[in-house]
Amino acid sequence: MKCLNLHLNFKEMNKVRVRFAPSPTGPLHLGGVRTALYDYLFAKNQDGEFVLRIEDTDTARYVEGAEDYIEEALEWCGIIPDESPKKGGKFAPYRQSERRDIYDRYTEQILKTDYAYIAFDTAEELDAIRAEYEAKGDVFSYNNISRNRLKNSIALSEEEVQKLLDEKTPYVVRFKMPVDRTLGLVDIIRGNFAVNTNTLDDKVLVKNDGMPTYHFANIIDDNEMEISHVIRGEEWLPSLGLHILLYEAMGWEAPQFAHLSLILKPEGKGKLSKRDGDKFGFPVFPLNFTDPVTGNISKGYREEGYLPEAFINMVALLGWSPADDKEILSLDEMTKEFDLNKVHKAGARFSKEKAEWFNHQYIQLKSDEELLQILKNSDLNLTLSDEKLLKVVHLMKERATFPKDIYENGKFFFEAPSSYDEKASKKAWNDETSNLLTEFSVMLSEIEAFTSENIKQNLHDFAENKGVGMGKVMMPLRLALVGELKGPDVPDIVELVGKEESIARINNAINNFK
Ligand code: GLU
Repeated sequence: MKCLNLHLNFKEMNKVRVRFAPSPTGPLHLGGVRTALYDYLFAKNQDGEFVLRIEDTDTARYVEGAEDYIEEALEWCGIIPDESPKKGGKFAPYRQSERRDIYDRYTEQILKTDYAYIAFDTAEELDAIRAEYEAKGDVFSYNNISRNRLKNSIALSEEEVQKLLDEKTPYVVRFKMPVDRTLGLVDIIRGNFAVNTNTLDDKVLVKNDGMPTYHFANIIDDNEMEISHVIRGEEWLPSLGLHILLYEAMGWEAPQFAHLSLILKPEGKGKLSKRDGDKFGFPVFPLNFTDPVTGNISKGYREEGYLPEAFINMVALLGWSPADDKEILSLDEMTKEFDLNKVHKAGARFSKEKAEWFNHQYIQLKSDEELLQILKNSDLNLTLSDEKLLKVVHLMKERATFPKDIYENGKFFFEAPSSYDEKASKKAWNDETSNLLTEFSVMLSEIEAFTSENIKQNLHDFAENKGVGMGKVMMPLRLALVGELKGPDVPDIVELVGKEESIARINNAINNFK
């Protein structure tokens, strides 16, 4: 029995655990979704666990509704956490604002080491120093040189510090960056690189309200939650040295790190921004987001008509190439194939056309019934029976990029055309057309089994009897039914529109072109 326990513990210790740790400062950007997806794919590929942790220690940047948005977005994408604030888990709570007692314990611990000190400088004092430096063309950094002259427990005497503490002077805890050490850092995607500690500053670990900053809370939680791999955006790469040193200070083993490159603008230069979305007409967020302060709505992929499968497939390939350059992969297939070693070092260019291509592909993979359900769940005014709608879906899906295209490109199935395209009219209608279509509509009225095959046969016979080419009948007929020379096969349209309505539309056109 003992043996078994040991074995389990060993396995447990080696378990892959990956977290996605967004700050609720706004809606999840495309880059955030990709980080969450890669976190998830890696964890699941390794039979591990995927954790959602909300990093909300920065109350000044907190945005109402952002946490719910993040959870809803992940759910829509199918990126389901094993542990999260809502779901709980053995390392709960998963919201940093609820973990204050844990951080307090470790604040005490780090202050006992030589890796941290307290500093009393006020924001105003630091601003004044910064301004002085700027005036001389320098940049101020609270670091291993300047700290010896500032208002902190390194520069001040023990008595001075005690006095300030007795007077309840607010203070922060800062990291004491070691002097002139070269750190060998390892990143799974980028390989090895070195950083000299003299280039790093003494970051604040705990603010004067006792709340830890991102850096400190992040490494405490990663350790507490037994995170084995940190996969996150490259904007955190400059913090890696500090994080590694924090693990060292706490006497903990650091997880492995992988930093993901940026998602670039469509033209390939610079980070994809929210403004690019507005500029080029594509969403940069998974779901619509209404800013709680301004009321501004940012567009989401879901509301634009993207299928979640298409969306995550598109996002996954922004920076990762599966084997054989396969492009269409389900979440399960991606999970099986995912490999951090195949994640690109270079930034990935976003393409709206590619995003649309993915959606088009996934629409084709859906059954007519599934697409019908999607349409019925939308706010489109679908005035046909399910049976007819299913036929519309069948005829129109091939051309559709979004589900609504089925309706919009097939409007003529729902209502008679209110006008006729000018160019098409010139091409399709001449002096003989009215007589020809009048006769044809009589024939149409006599067809008993009103199926597209029968209609097609009758069209052929009619043209042959009249000694005219098919186009002479087919084109004006299409114009009468659709209003332009577009759409699926005419007999299919006639069948679906129905006998009476087709004849009515033919008569409308005849009257119009009199
Ligand atoms: N809270 C950080 C963010 O929102 C997490 C960074 C990390 O994964 O370490 O980007």
